[in-house]
Amino acid sequence: MDDARDARAPEKATPSASSAASPTGTTSPAIGGSDAQGPVPLPRLGHELPFVAPSSYLRPATRAMADKTPSPLDKEQMQGLRGIREFLKVRTSYDVLPLSFRLVVLDNDLLIKKSLNILIQNGIVSAPLWDSRNSAFAGLLTSTDYINVIQYYCQFPDQLNQVDQFRLCNLRDIEKAIGVVPLETVSVHPMRPLYEACRRMLKTRARRIPLVDTDDETGRETVVSVITQYRILKFIAVNNEQHTMLLKKPVGELGLGTYTNLATATMSSSVLDVIHLMVKHNISAVPIVDQEYKLLNVFEAVDVIPCIKGGAYDELSATVGEAISRRAEDFAGIYTCGEDDRLDSIFDTIRKSRVHRLIVIDDDSRLKGIISLSDVLKYVLLHGEEDDSIRG
Ligand code: AMP
Repeated sequence: MDDARDARAPEKATPSASSAASPTGTTSPAIGGSDAQGPVPLPRLGHELPFVAPSSYLRPATRAMADKTPSPLDKEQMQGLRGIREFLKVRTSYDVLPLSFRLVVLDNDLLIKKSLNILIQNGIVSAPLWDSRNSAFAGLLTSTDYINVIQYYCQFPDQLNQVDQFRLCNLRDIEKAIGVVPLETVSVHPMRPLYEACRRMLKTRARRIPLVDTDDETGRETVVSVITQYRILKFIAVNNEQHTMLLKKPVGELGLGTYTNLATATMSSSVLDVIHLMVKHNISAVPIVDQEYKLLNVFEAVDVIPCIKGGAYDELSATVGEAISRRAEDFAGIYTCGEDDRLDSIFDTIRKSRVHRLIVIDDDSRLKGIISLSDVLKYVLLHGEEDDSIRG
């Protein structure tokens, strides 16, 4: 288990006094020292020290200006981002939904154990909850809730029988018992601008948001569907190619994603250890690497669901390798990219395939970083925005 490996080695050279170069490029270690051949020259301004003070030669104003001048590539990139933002402002969350879709809503009174089977049987990883006593939307069930139940089981192992009897309406009590700050129950109206749903997602770190409508006459709520970061980015990729094709800067140059302190595990790590890692880092996936740090697979939060099917919490000591082998046949696969890959090609991949994150690797398949859909969404919405108040 490697919890804190820095995947990107520091590249900045440290300036050293003994090799300080003069403006002409010659090495001048002792300017201002005594000279046996002639009179000691008077120190010039900036030369009082035993070596050249670099500040006397730098031209910060001109350099800074030169660095800030946007290249044609930067300009095109910003044009693409602005185009996408405008598009998100004129489309609604409802527009993202396909013409026909299926929605599984679970009653809050259902046993947690049974909810697991329903998700697995329906091939889904989350479901809106319904409070039938009050006829109201009651939140969204996700893999995070099951991870909370697992944490509860770990903290109170002698209460397995009680865990078995928990219902979905007890999820909030479980959060309190294990000391987790409850997630805000976010939802958006389907007819509000899509941009608003994206901002809500970034602010609350929610990876999916239910669309909840309210009947004008009865005031009753209806859950229309759930939109995910993947659906939104796919909607952009499919309908906005004229703007995504302008995003030609490589992901490494953009610093898109996370490249330091990567949480990783090996095939022989236990599922429970990897779950603890996800909780500690508040992440939804852990890359699985070998001894040489080569990428082998990724364990995702949704992989937890089949592991505890039927309430088998004591099987969490199984290895990640065993858990991954239980994945459904239609598992979408792991997507990788290099630091030189451009954002437009990432949108191409999203357009064609069901991608939830991209793992950044080098030519030898060594892990370099991870780009989550939340990183892409954040970049698309907020990069270059001057007004800090709109940052989530
Ligand atoms: P996610 O949970 O996938 O939405 O990612 C949330 C944030 O954590 C993003 O900025 C990711 O780049 C970052 N992240 C995702 N997985 C990992 C990981 N295994 N180690 C470190 N950071 C990660």
